[in-house]
Amino acid sequence: MKIAFIGLGNMGGGMAANLVKAGHAVNAFDLSVEALTRAQENGCATFTSVRDAVDGVDAVVSMLPNGKIVDSVFETDVLSHAPKGAILLDCSTIDVDTARKVTADAVAAGYDMVDAPVSGGIAAANGGTLTFMVGGTDTAFARAEPILSAMGKAVIHAGTSGAGQAAKICNNMLLGASMIATCETFSMAEKLGLDLQTFYDISSKASGQNWSMTSYCPVPDVGPTSPADNDYQGGFATALMLKDLKLAMEAAQSVNADVPMGARAAELYARFDADGKGSLDFSAIIQSL
Ligand code: NAD
Repeated sequence: MKIAFIGLGNMGGGMAANLVKAGHAVNAFDLSVEALTRAQENGCATFTSVRDAVDGVDAVVSMLPNGKIVDSVFETDVLSHAPKGAILLDCSTIDVDTARKVTADAVAAGYDMVDAPVSGGIAAANGGTLTFMVGGTDTAFARAEPILSAMGKAVIHAGTSGAGQAAKICNNMLLGASMIATCETFSMAEKLGLDLQTFYDISSKASGQNWSMTSYCPVPDVGPTSPADNDYQGGFATALMLKDLKLAMEAAQSVNADVPMGARAAELYARFDADGKGSLDFSAIIQSL
């Protein structure tokens, strides 16, 4: 297949390289010259405009920073210039309403499109082990699935247009709140004089067990290796968690959902980010509790 890939940053760079490894011809476009150089080294053909990159392709994949940029790139350059019949896949994390709007515009212009945000960070993007949550019609999903499979270990059809983004922000709202709950619990356990490894051994086998504890423990030297064991470097940045929590709060408001724990998590991550900790892994929030 000939696939245009737009947005070759931390995530998109590795994803495009995996499409090349799977035997696809990849046309790459990014505003950054460095990103394009890396894409070329990884076997992509590089272009100086979206319009040239999407010319004659079978599919267009985007991995961009936010909804405004996604809307503008598709509206201005993709929908008018990609061949009719190409399948369009936006893998960026964006708000549900914009995802639905861009897909509706694409469908009106004669394309199949899915929203397909990812779970997994830069290592998973490079290693081809992302999980994709996909929103779109059955036809669009069936067309997108083989392309996404080349970049991930799981591709799940979440529902109709926007459902991929909805699943992503619901999952990350739960993750943000459960990470903070895990962090405050370890801090309190320590103040109560508990040995943290002993508390981990108990709670990881009791009803407090959760992913933030047993797969991503925020306490150094406790549980499996995690960013806590590397001074909270790497992993999933606080700034990205905050971005997802803001999207979750917007979505909650739009459907009048009562999310007190998610709202508190958004406040606490905003405060931690404002303290200059945005680049640290999100489990570093234990330092503020
Ligand atoms: P990034 O900033 O590293 O990459 C974004 C790329 O888009 C950059 O190279 C930038 O130059 C390019 N870009 C911006 N505007 C453009 C335009 N108009 N045309 C073409 N290229 C343009 O970001 P990232 O970490 O790769 O994240 C990309 C998306 O993936 C975001 O929506 C993010 O929320 C999501 N995401 C990131 C992670 C992660 O761990 N980094 C994990 C899951 C999801």
